[in-house]
Amino acid sequence: MKILVTGGMGFIGSAVVRLAIARGHEVVNLDALTYAACEANVSGVADAPGYAFVHADIRDRAALDRTFAAHRPDAVMHLAAESHVDRSIDGPGAFIETNVTGTYNTLEAARAFWVGQGRPEEFRFHHVSTDEVFGSLPRDPDVKFTEATPYDPRSPYAASKASSDHLVRAWHETYGLPVVLSNCSNNYGSYHFPEKLIPVMILNALAGKDLPIYGDGSNIRDWLFVEDHADALLTVLTRGKTGQSYNIGGENERTNLELVRTLCAILDKKRPKNGGSYADQITFVADRPGHDARYAIDPARIREELGWRPSVTVEEGLARTVQWYLDNETWWRPLLDRAGVGERLGTTS
Ligand code: NAD
Repeated sequence: MKILVTGGMGFIGSAVVRLAIARGHEVVNLDALTYAACEANVSGVADAPGYAFVHADIRDRAALDRTFAAHRPDAVMHLAAESHVDRSIDGPGAFIETNVTGTYNTLEAARAFWVGQGRPEEFRFHHVSTDEVFGSLPRDPDVKFTEATPYDPRSPYAASKASSDHLVRAWHETYGLPVVLSNCSNNYGSYHFPEKLIPVMILNALAGKDLPIYGDGSNIRDWLFVEDHADALLTVLTRGKTGQSYNIGGENERTNLELVRTLCAILDKKRPKNGGSYADQITFVADRPGHDARYAIDPARIREELGWRPSVTVEEGLARTVQWYLDNETWWRPLLDRAGVGERLGTTS
């Protein structure tokens, strides 16, 4: 299958590109190369015969049309987005332009191509979204997000992704475009841009800096290993039911404080510091405005309909992630100089 992946130079998109090539698919990686992109993420597959890169912006409809005409994909996996909640608080405009208008452009370019091809039933437009569209859960382990949970986005990022989900569903209902959607929990793993919680904590710990935890650290996330997620996404793309959404979770709920303590314990073993534990560097800082208390995925649909489950526990995945950052300083070191990295963003003050 030839898959047009948008955002394939980012964290999750590049994991999808690497896995799709490994599984024998052809991949056209379309990416605008924003601050969050890193070409090294796909260096291992860039010379593969089935790989092509298109430097283009999803806000540019003409560039999308040219890409569809030149590459004639069988499917689209749409991951290009502005993805950092804190940045969405400081500058929501870019999130509306890329996540809403850019998704609209991508849908329209896909629809025009699909109509021109005679509306093939097997064509797929897979929209990759987040569980943050569902809002915040109470701390009751029996209550989780299902695919029927009403939308209740609370950050500009989540609202922009909720908007794009609605557009994708509308293009299916109105125009018949064969779409699938997925809403996943927080990802982690190798190639994670060093502005997100886990890489920030690993790199700050190694640098002897504070490990800043928002609020009291009691916010709960359901951690999904990015390589498991890429596998789930290809499962949804190839076997998901048209018009349907699938929630994808890691079955690994942890508070932020538990997560950071686990990271510190792994680092204490792998790179012991002179006296004390990395956990001594934990500090508590002002909370994120509107910080959702808990996200948790009910994975019943993807498990029962598609037979998919995550393969690692968060402890296994974190150990692999820490080792990857220890082994790949040449990847992360230059990224620390990019705009906004290492700064406290999204405080509204
Ligand atoms: P990322 O920020 O690491 O990568 C985004 C990629 O999209 C970058 O390579 C960037 O250059 C590209 N991009 C941004 N704007 C673009 C534009 N206008 N045109 C073309 N390319 C553009 O993001 P990620 O963490 O890999 O997330 C990928 C997708 O998964 C996003 O849609 C995000 O909303 C969704 N998602 C992420 C998570 C997570 O935990 N990271 C969780 C749920 C859903």
